[in-house]
Amino acid sequence: MSFNPLVCEDCNIECVFEQIGLLPSEAAFSNIGVSWKCPNCNKRSLDMCFLGLNVPKKDSCLNCGEVFQDNICQGCGETKTEEDEFFNAYSSKDEAIKDLYNIFNKGLVRRAFLIANYILREDLTITAAWNFKFSALSFLKLKEQALVLLKDALTAGAPEVLFLSCGNVLEELGRYQEAIEYYDKYLSLSHAKKKAVALSCKANCHIALENYGEAEKLFLASIEEDPNELNSYTDYINLLQDLEKWEKSLETIDRVLKLSLTTEQTNLLLEEKSYVYAELEDGEKSLNIAETVLKNNPKSVRAHYLRGRALALLGRLEEAQGEMKIVLELEPNHEDAINAIKMIEEVLVKTKPIQWKLI
Ligand SMILES: [Zn+2]
Ligand SMILES: [Zn+2]
Repeated sequence: MSFNPLVCEDCNIECVFEQIGLLPSEAAFSNIGVSWKCPNCNKRSLDMCFLGLNVPKKDSCLNCGEVFQDNICQGCGETKTEEDEFFNAYSSKDEAIKDLYNIFNKGLVRRAFLIANYILREDLTITAAWNFKFSALSFLKLKEQALVLLKDALTAGAPEVLFLSCGNVLEELGRYQEAIEYYDKYLSLSHAKKKAVALSCKANCHIALENYGEAEKLFLASIEEDPNELNSYTDYINLLQDLEKWEKSLETIDRVLKLSLTTEQTNLLLEEKSYVYAELEDGEKSLNIAETVLKNNPKSVRAHYLRGRALALLGRLEEAQGEMKIVLELEPNHEDAINAIKMIEEVLVKTKPIQWKLI
């Protein structure tokens, strides 16, 4: 039932959780399977369960949404007392919310959903509990179900920030035009706090629809709305690079580098900068920047690769080859590095003077 770990029938001990998955033929009903393994006899058992995808209501079962009669749910047999017991194991609501992901990851899927519903039944505006439900559904690839639940939740009075979640799910389903409508609904709210995020998400939908000009405008609007929202910049920079607008990309990277950033963020941006210079075939600049990154983070695969690429641009082929070998030491399947080594090898063979052997 995935409220508690399964107990092995033969050994009478608790099984260990293995994995969660959708039951393919039952997907429409949101049935999932949790697989458990006995640590003693190694026997595997599949625990099937369905999830409480209803918007929790007062006086209805948190597990299946049906009504109670004499304390017992008429749909699934859960008792109200059991519901209370699951929740009362925590000293506070916050503690329970924090534990949701933890128990989900332990395979106690239904228990996690029930606790989230318990919290939401008291107060539909607790965004953290909704977020848990949507990320769990997304993990289980139940996106359609997540969408239905989101729409029901919004009708029932859940926080309007869920318009954004609706947009995100629709985006994941490839329904970009509808996603844009939800982002617009959010943007039309006078008290919306995450406008920059909504603008940026909308921009990404326009990229998917190949409306690049509109996407650029939206990214700029997002940056204007919140000049510290890093995601807007990174998505915008990616777009500029895809459109091969290198100068504008450099300009934007420099603008972001002026924000207060972590060392990791700075390094990522410098790698982008080194990449842009490589695309512009400016080996010198690309090399200098890649080396700056390597001073801070000597294990960065990308920075080593960019250093190798810059060295090749500068005609320092043997050094470039050595650098690509470092990339492969760090990441043996790095395809670009494997190809680069082959290409450099071919050029080196052609340009090497013939070594006469004297016998
Ligand atoms: Zn066993
Ligand atoms: Zn029930």
